[in-house]
Amino acid sequence: MRGEIRMRLFEAILEANHRAIAGDSTASLRQSEFADSLPIAALTCIDVRLNPLIPEVLGIAEEHFIWLRNAGNIITGPLSSTMRSLALACAVKCAKEIVILGHTDCQVCKTTTMQLIERLKDVGVERQVLPDNVNEYFGLFASERQNVIKACDLVRHSPLIGPKIPVHGLFVDIQTGKLEWLVNGYHTFATVSDKWNEVVRSAGETVDKLKSLTDFNIGEMKFPETKIGETVTKAEDWLAQNIERLEVKPTQSENAPTTPGSPPAAFNIAHQIVDLAQKHWPKPSAQSQRPTAPVSPPKIPLPPPIRVKPQFPPRPKR
Ligand SMILES: [Zn+2]
Repeated sequence: MRGEIRMRLFEAILEANHRAIAGDSTASLRQSEFADSLPIAALTCIDVRLNPLIPEVLGIAEEHFIWLRNAGNIITGPLSSTMRSLALACAVKCAKEIVILGHTDCQVCKTTTMQLIERLKDVGVERQVLPDNVNEYFGLFASERQNVIKACDLVRHSPLIGPKIPVHGLFVDIQTGKLEWLVNGYHTFATVSDKWNEVVRSAGETVDKLKSLTDFNIGEMKFPETKIGETVTKAEDWLAQNIERLEVKPTQSENAPTTPGSPPAAFNIAHQIVDLAQKHWPKPSAQSQRPTAPVSPPKIPLPPPIRVKPQFPPRPKR
């Protein structure tokens, strides 16, 4: 039951992980206690060393574990492809919490822009076909931890991810399997709610700000067909600039009376912009048809054979 003093899912995952690292061979996640927090969606790097490691360190059974991967566990923007997959993981596959899980010794972090350009050339990709800013384009990063923190921030503020979903940032030592908590999604969740309450309290100016968003008529926005890429960029910029201001509403305000110009309306506008941006997204042989949402949810890789089986030993007294 909510309200009881008990660990939340990721608190229990970290606790079990740290006990196991300290030598407790009985340490495991008692998954049955966290049914209402499962499944989770996890974004990790593509590094193959993580294949056996991640399910083991999280200790979550395969049917409760939606695993998304890309090189460097990078989120490039609030509407990026990975963000859409995370959104679908939550909306379609009912993920209750999100974790961005970075790791030590990440090759994406270790690769410099010049090295990448050389290696791409080695596999037949010439410099001239690449965009000017290769570094930014591939999302290369200098700090593995900062990369996770940045990704969490983007997910937390994405209009595609609801305010009800905690977004955590973890970091795993690829040698030892020890987890480190970089972003506590439960804390951020509280902060977001607090922020919202502040906004509500300082009504005057804020309501005006939000009202200007409500009055904003998407139908009157002109998207020049000749500048399709720019349109998308502008829509993303617009969202990026306004997301902070829109912020999310805490769960409990769902049934509260809403005033004109309240965030739900603003969010609708944000969604309309996303739709519009997608409609104008450049596509090969585009018929300017509105794209249908991706139908297949992220695939869950089969767990490796050495994955730890969730066990249910008697709960130790604390
Ligand atoms: Zn990596």
